[in-house]
Amino acid sequence: MKTRHRNLMVIALGGNALLRRNQRGSFEEQYENVRQTCKILADIIEAGYNIVITHGNGPQVGATILRHDAGEKLYNIPAFPMDVCGAETQGFIGYMIQQALVNELSSRNLRKHVVTIVTRVVVDKEDPDFINPSKPVGPFYSLEEVEKIKKIHPEYIFKEDKARGGWRRVVPSPDPKYIVEGPVIKSLVDAGVIVVASGGGGIPVIEEDGVFKGVEAVIDKDLAGERLATFLEAEKFIILTDVDAVYINYGKETQQKIQTIKAQELKKLYNEGHFPPGSMGPKVKAAIRFIDSGGEEAIIGELTQLMEAVNGKSGTHVIP
Ligand code: ADP
Ligand code: MG
Repeated sequence: MKTRHRNLMVIALGGNALLRRNQRGSFEEQYENVRQTCKILADIIEAGYNIVITHGNGPQVGATILRHDAGEKLYNIPAFPMDVCGAETQGFIGYMIQQALVNELSSRNLRKHVVTIVTRVVVDKEDPDFINPSKPVGPFYSLEEVEKIKKIHPEYIFKEDKARGGWRRVVPSPDPKYIVEGPVIKSLVDAGVIVVASGGGGIPVIEEDGVFKGVEAVIDKDLAGERLATFLEAEKFIILTDVDAVYINYGKETQQKIQTIKAQELKKLYNEGHFPPGSMGPKVKAAIRFIDSGGEEAIIGELTQLMEAVNGKSGTHVIP
C-alpha cells in the first residue's frame, strides 16, 4: 500500500460555515460566521494536523449573479458568465478565511501562511448533465420575466418548480474529473502552507486540444473536494455540514445513525435511495469515492464537532 500524506486532512465546509439560516448575507454576518468556523479549524491545526480547506458557494454565487444582473439593468455594466462569478466567490470567501484564520492562529502564537488558490476543475464536455441540466441557480421568476431574460440570453434553460410556483434557471452540474491546480496546491501543502482551494466545487472548465475554456455550470463541492483529497493523498477527507451524521431512514421515526461503515456497505444503502441528490447524496458518493481511490477514512459530520469527529467520537466514519 502506498503511504498517504500523514496527518493531512482535506476539510469541506458546508453552507452553515459561511451563512446561517435566516441571515441576509451581509459581509459582516458572513465574516463573523467564518471567524467562528476558523476557531474550530485552529483547534485542529493546533492539535498538529495539516489541513486543506474547501467550501461551498451556493448562496454566494447566487447573489453574485444577481449583482451582475442588477448592474446590467441599472448601469449597463455587462454581466459576467457563471464561471467568472464562481471565480469571484472563490476570491472573497478565500479572503475571509485567510483573514480570520491567520488572526485566530496568531492569537494562539501559531505562525502559518494561509493562501487561496483560484481553482479550475476539468469536466467532460460530453457529460450528460450538459444536455439535461439539473441544478437550479438564482431566484424564482414568473413566465413573463423568463421571456424577457430569454431575449437577452437565448441559451439559458429554465425549468418550472410547480410546487413553489415559479421558474428557475437550471445549469449543468457535471462530474469533476481533475483539479488543474492540483500540483501547485501540493507543493504549497508540502511547504507547510494552509491552502483554501476548489471553492464552490471549483471553476468548471473543459479541455479541448490542450486549451481550457470556462463553461456555464456548477460543480458539487463535495465531489470536487474528493478529487482534491485523493490527488493530495490526504489521510482523511472530512465533510462538515449541519447534521451530526449520516442516517438511514433519515427524518423517519425509524431513523438510525451510521457511526462506522465500510464503503461497500454504504454503496448498498446509497443504491437503496437513502441519500437525496441535492444534499446527502453527493457527500456519501464523495466519501465512497475517496475510499475506493485508496483513502483511509472519510468522515461526514457536524461543523462544531470537528475535533470529536477526528477523534472518532462523532460523525459517520467511512472506511475501506
Ligand atoms: P451543505 O451545505 O453542508 O452541503 P446540505 O444541505 O447540502 O449541506 O446537506 C446536508 C443536509 O442533508 C442535512 O441538513 C440533512 O437535512 C440532509 N439529509 C438528507 N438525507 C440525509 C441523511 N440520510 N442523513 C443525514 N442528513 C440527510
Ligand atoms: Mg447546502
